[in-house]
Amino acid sequence: MGLSSNMQTLLLTPEREVKVQVAMEMDNGEIATHIGYRIQHNKSRGPMKGGLRYHPEVDQDEVLSLATLMTWKTAIVDIPYGGAKGGIQIDARKLSMPELERLTRKFIDEIHDMIGPDKDIPAPDMGTNAQVMAWIMNQYQKYHGFNPACVTGKPVELHGADGREEATGRGVGLLTIALLDKMHERIEGSKIAIQGFGNVGRFAAQFLHERGAKIISTSDAYGGLMNEDGIDIPALSKHVEKTGKVVEFSGADAIANIELLTCNCDVLIPAAIGGVLTPEIATDIRAKYIVEAANNPTHPEADHLLNSRGIVILPDVLANAGGVTVSYFEWVQNRQHFRWELERVRQELDNKMTKAFDQIWNLATEKKVNLRLAAYLLGIGRVGRATAMGGF
Ligand code: NAD
Repeated sequence: MGLSSNMQTLLLTPEREVKVQVAMEMDNGEIATHIGYRIQHNKSRGPMKGGLRYHPEVDQDEVLSLATLMTWKTAIVDIPYGGAKGGIQIDARKLSMPELERLTRKFIDEIHDMIGPDKDIPAPDMGTNAQVMAWIMNQYQKYHGFNPACVTGKPVELHGADGREEATGRGVGLLTIALLDKMHERIEGSKIAIQGFGNVGRFAAQFLHERGAKIISTSDAYGGLMNEDGIDIPALSKHVEKTGKVVEFSGADAIANIELLTCNCDVLIPAAIGGVLTPEIATDIRAKYIVEAANNPTHPEADHLLNSRGIVILPDVLANAGGVTVSYFEWVQNRQHFRWELERVRQELDNKMTKAFDQIWNLATEKKVNLRLAAYLLGIGRVGRATAMGGF
């Protein structure tokens, strides 16, 4: 890219890393102390944007890596934002709703001065959802007054955007079809395995199922499912709504989580946690295409291995950018006090995702590089030029 080593250092250095104590009272009256992180990586293209993750594996390095990804991701889909990320190392499933609320409000008490609609705008990620975003908005407003644009991914009834919940999964589905198209393959009847049946995995499964794909395998933190003829996704969604898990669904056989990753499918979509595609697993993967719905699912060594085996990878920075794109639409609507219809949200999302995909595809072809490298060329190039032109 011809970036000087000084510019490389500047682009890799986060603007601010904040680590705070989040102490809260549990329902049994005891005190629990957690550590919360918010890392702001780069704001050369606009206010920083990034999710908030509640997960036992959250640590400072992970949050920094995810904040950096957000900088490239917002540049790749060309929305006027920088990158940030936050998290608390906690298993949110073990908290009651009142505990989750107290934890969230306490975290915002600690960081409210560094976030805001023109500074840094949080959004949902693993372990957080629209309800958590509503608490964030409410707590932020106690300090700063009415300002729904301070956070995105809010409930639709509370300044949220129609279509935000489905956005990441829809983007993953759209680009899976776009990739198959380029490879002269049809979505109808193609076999797809999706690791994770949360916000992203479920909507991606639904989108692809509705367009004729066979979702032959899916999983969650409790276990996996396999049905060679294709799983009935609407029925599975109902089962998950009732039981909270994919396991014990009667329309498929139980498998171990790891079996999903190496099953005989056309497209593998990791949509759960990072680091699942290790070098060991990479040698056994049978899919022809990998669409990275989760952030950082592929170990760098596995990435080399998969590339050398001719497996085409659609990288996370592009594949899962649908969520931040509709977050941007939500922020725009909040600032204009003007609500868009769902059809407009979907149309604008489809345009943004398809445009970024085509640009990256063309760049990869022109420079003879893989899609990940092309995505980085596009994203880092845009951030680098903005930094050089605007100064710092
Ligand atoms: P979620 O919490 O709604 O769902 C995560 C799913 O993964 C759940 O089904 C969970 O049971 C499953 N899971 C957790 N650990 C697992 C394991 N070890 N093996 C198999 N499954 C496991 O989270 P989400 O919002 O769907 O996010 C999933 C991924 O997508 C994350 O990497 C996140 O960073 C990324 N992402 C999410 C969004 C978004 O808008 N939600 C946007 C961009 C990227």
